[in-house]
Amino acid sequence: MSSRAPASSRDNGGSRIVVVTDHPWPDVEIERSVLARAGLELRAGPGRAGTAAEIETLVARHDPVAIMTCWAEVSARAIALPSELLVVARMGVGLDNIAVAAATARGAWVINVPDYCVQEVSDHAIALMLAHWRDVVVTDRASKQGVWNPTAAVARRVRDRTVGIIGYGRIGSTTARKMARGFGCRVLVNSPGLLREHGAGHELAPGIIVAALAQLQEEADAIVLHLPLVDSTRRLVDKKFLAACRRKPLLVNVSRGGLVDNDALVHALEHGLLSGAALDVIEGEPAPPLSVIGRADVIATPHIGFLSDASVAEVRRRSCEDVVRAVSGEKPRNPCNAPHARVASK
Ligand code: NAD
Repeated sequence: MSSRAPASSRDNGGSRIVVVTDHPWPDVEIERSVLARAGLELRAGPGRAGTAAEIETLVARHDPVAIMTCWAEVSARAIALPSELLVVARMGVGLDNIAVAAATARGAWVINVPDYCVQEVSDHAIALMLAHWRDVVVTDRASKQGVWNPTAAVARRVRDRTVGIIGYGRIGSTTARKMARGFGCRVLVNSPGLLREHGAGHELAPGIIVAALAQLQEEADAIVLHLPLVDSTRRLVDKKFLAACRRKPLLVNVSRGGLVDNDALVHALEHGLLSGAALDVIEGEPAPPLSVIGRADVIATPHIGFLSDASVAEVRRRSCEDVVRAVSGEKPRNPCNAPHARVASK
């Protein structure tokens, strides 16, 4: 990756405007105050994400030096429009709504905040496992229907569970530590890197053991997905994967919906291959199929794994601080590309 930062806007008296395309929080006061301290002027789009065409209109109107997006698509056309563009920032982690190659080609940084919600997502995965094993959701639903029946509850001792975690990066390793140290569970962890480096059976820390996928499918009482969605992981959890699960595990997906084949999931639940599914992300969101989320053995949350008062404040502040760095000609803290040399604006 190039260490040369694109030249600063301040150097050439260029635009000082930063466009925030969308903000799924009530105001942009955190953004405004961080940017204003650096002499940058914020122009915000509506709270909800507009279409790619609406974002292009917004960018054309304000001619910004930086574009910040949460969910809105920042197209190659939007990236081509400003007379000088130094940075496109994702106020989050994934970059699938940004035309990264177009930004790279015109010499603009693409940045994100890769670690702002590690605790939240791992807490969420654990909350889902506890809800399932302590039968919180099912008994709550029954109580509200006037059924107060402790004998119907199916509850497990959490410490006796084996947790299988696929993906051992920032979030996966955090969930593993919490489940092993905090709850005393046996934790099997799987990633290509771990298997290459240590081999199956290696104990990384007390109770956290590297495992091949086949062992995890055989021994886990919950299988937690903490890996990215890329071509090679799309529909990783399919009919074949689920047929190899032996202990009727709970499937927990807090990563991306596309990792799981919805039809295979429903088939596995109907045929008793899983004891349940707990999903924060589902293929088809924001209108996930009722055939999945409508089931009594599925707990669904609407993609809120990242969310907390602290994480949202953090992502807003840190993404603005990195925009300020990039606009000032410094290398940003979280670059996701290596911008080509910038072509001087006409
Ligand atoms: P990370 O990059 O730190 O870790 C991902 C890990 O997955 C890496 O260790 C990688 O080696 C491993 N991996 C890749 N391919 C694999 C495969 N085929 N099998 C097993 N392991 C594989 O990412 P992270 O910060 O831990 O985040 C993990 C995922 O969480 C993200 O990709 C994102 O999809 C998701 N996420 C969800 C939310 C939410 O709100 N629900 C919020 C943030 C992130």
